[in-house]
Amino acid sequence: MLERLAAGDVRALARAVSMVEDGVAGAAELLYGCRALGRHARRVGVTGPPGAGKSTLVDRMVATLRGKGERVAVVAVDPSSPYTGGALLGDRVRMQGFAGDSGVFVRSMASRGAMGGLARGVSDVCTVIEAAGFGTILIETVGVGQDEVSVAGLADVTLLVLVPGMGDDVQSLKAGVMEVADIFVVNKSDLSGADRVEAEILAMQGLGAHDEGWLPPVVRTVASTAEGVGELLAVVDRSLAANKKPRLNTDFTDRHGLKLDHLGIAVKSIAAAKGFYELLGLEVVHEETVEHERVKTAMLPMGESRIELLEPTEEDSTIGRFLAKRGEGLHHVAVRVTGLDERFAAMQAAGVRLASDCVRVGAGGHRYFFVHPASTGGVLLELVGK
Ligand code: ZN
Repeated sequence: MLERLAAGDVRALARAVSMVEDGVAGAAELLYGCRALGRHARRVGVTGPPGAGKSTLVDRMVATLRGKGERVAVVAVDPSSPYTGGALLGDRVRMQGFAGDSGVFVRSMASRGAMGGLARGVSDVCTVIEAAGFGTILIETVGVGQDEVSVAGLADVTLLVLVPGMGDDVQSLKAGVMEVADIFVVNKSDLSGADRVEAEILAMQGLGAHDEGWLPPVVRTVASTAEGVGELLAVVDRSLAANKKPRLNTDFTDRHGLKLDHLGIAVKSIAAAKGFYELLGLEVVHEETVEHERVKTAMLPMGESRIELLEPTEEDSTIGRFLAKRGEGLHHVAVRVTGLDERFAAMQAAGVRLASDCVRVGAGGHRYFFVHPASTGGVLLELVGK
């Protein structure tokens, strides 16, 4: 199948995508083979409120890219839909005249219900499409809910499509929606009110902080007549060249480099508790107070890992409250990983419940974040690494 896929066989592609979506036997192997091919498409996220004309815009982008001889895939994501596999969307695109064109691949995806399933699933499907040699993948989302914003984060560049007279003003968009945009598209810009939408976007931008110097540009389009679509694609290319953001790595299956780093044990007093561990043959090699956690730590190396004793410096601290509620005992398990920042971002995107709001620096300069027990089977899990 991988051979047929790599040769661009669209029937093999459709089957491979289903295999990966359904997680059948052999799917992991297939994904591994796809990644090994090392092929990359530009992944363009297209998001925005319902009624913004995203579907028409996507169809126009497909037509324009096809006109240049590019092979284009569309992954339409609707977390609220119980349907998957593309029947409804396929009909839509067939009506737009791409039927029988092997240079266009269309797939719709719905929420699988599993935690983090959607973002991971979309990423995997994109990997398979890339293996089939498609140059561009348009990832279209139906609305601007939390799932859609997470999915938009999987793209290399994300378009936020707005229209005049949305009913709601730009200001009313939920937090996190504006931030996802690398490019703002004012669609249906032939309608009165386009100036006002653009002015509101610019006003919002003036308020926000922007990293790395890429100020999201505003592009006007009229998708129904394809006006501005060529320019939009040129701006997409410029945005990609500016290389604003690294693609999120959602590959949680990479087991290489994972190892048990330490066991964190909450104690009332390190001085009192360490005696037993010294009797066991361990030795405290490092003690440090981590101010922002209000905890004193002692590290006792044990083979490739360590015991970490944790003593609160204040009653009203994480460890202090743990002791009050549960008494002394195992507080957390720490696993050493590679790609800590990517994992934080990917887990956040996948809907994993995190117990840290960012990657932090703790004892010994180690970088870490915590995953909430609700997502790990009841164990507070610390991920540490570079
Ligand atoms: Zn720890």
